[in-house]
Amino acid sequence: MELKVNQKIDEVKTNFAQQLEMAKDEGKKVVGSLCSYFPREIVWAAGAISVGLCGTTEGPIEAAEKVLPADQCPMVKATYGRAINNTCPIFPLADVIVGETTCDGRKKMYELLAREKTMHVMDLPQRPEEPEAKIHWRGEIEKLKAFIEDQLDVKITETSLREAIARGNKERALLKAIHECRKVQPPPIMGLDLVAVSTKTGYTVDRTDYHRNLESILSELTRRIETGYAACDAKRPRILWTGLGNSLGCDKVLRLVEECGGVVVCQEGCGGVTRLNDPIDETKDPLDAIAERYLRVTCSCMTPNNTRFDDIDLLIRDFNIDGVIDLTWQSCHAFNIESYRVGELVREKHGIPFLHVVTDYSQSDIGQLKVRIEAFIEQILAEK
Ligand code: SF4
Ligand code: SF4
Repeated sequence: MELKVNQKIDEVKTNFAQQLEMAKDEGKKVVGSLCSYFPREIVWAAGAISVGLCGTTEGPIEAAEKVLPADQCPMVKATYGRAINNTCPIFPLADVIVGETTCDGRKKMYELLAREKTMHVMDLPQRPEEPEAKIHWRGEIEKLKAFIEDQLDVKITETSLREAIARGNKERALLKAIHECRKVQPPPIMGLDLVAVSTKTGYTVDRTDYHRNLESILSELTRRIETGYAACDAKRPRILWTGLGNSLGCDKVLRLVEECGGVVVCQEGCGGVTRLNDPIDETKDPLDAIAERYLRVTCSCMTPNNTRFDDIDLLIRDFNIDGVIDLTWQSCHAFNIESYRVGELVREKHGIPFLHVVTDYSQSDIGQLKVRIEAFIEQILAEK
């Protein structure tokens, strides 16, 4: 399988929208989602299609800023802008959309987004270690199930939930195995290529096709490892990516890191390996198990967010990391403040270089970022 993607994210989404239109012609329903806390298994159990609607490009931001204040994070603005300026080919195809109360920017934007489409917002508890949090979140999962059943006029059964859970676990296991191929030194694929191919592959309506594509990616990476094929020189510093900005479309910093001589061998956070580690327990009551698993997502909207630091600690050792880059979108207070603790852990416990980058979707800071990233790569090489 070819592991290079030459399409831009908008082309990928346009192709996906064509697949969706065909599925809708055959009577399928579509549920739009906006975050890693969204339990897709509920949608699959309803026989519907789950699609992500987050904006990852700069284009729609101008339209969003006519309504939202400019000093919001680019993810919030781009997601809203795509919905209101008719540049998102997927948004009009969603029958309903679902969001979660994560950060303030998202939840206030959702009040406006709900004017465009029928929307359900799940109330996400933000102190995940408290016993009450799981009880509350279990209730929210039940409310989501009732909303989907009502809106799509279907009945979600325990059997269909168990099937959906098994399918989701299989996907996570395959994706995890793909990410773990990069433990090999030097890695069989560049970080940018993996982000592009996994983002593109994710935009597949038919989940059987999706599994088949994941298996092909894994088999190609395994073949590369077995035949000694390396994507780059063994001297390249191995970078752990933490925080945000690791998706096709908003990958400018990741691209710069690899152009400046590093190789991203692991990503933490949304789009990264830490969202794949956790299978849903197939032996428990399905709604209990779904609630437990999705409450373990380690977004910085949680406090304290201790599991995230345990994850980063482990990834630095498991992936033999030489330096860590933490990306925060401008105006994202939670990830911005949490970055201090990430830096502490990286420098003090592991004694390796750390770089915190705050940026947006524009290209205006490319020159300045390049200088900082070049200096960071040189620092790693000097200390190795
Ligand atoms: S970073 Fe947080 S708010 Fe953003 S998609 Fe991930 S879990 Fe959701
Ligand atoms: S990047 Fe931060 S501010 Fe933006 S949507 Fe995600 S959590 Fe919210």
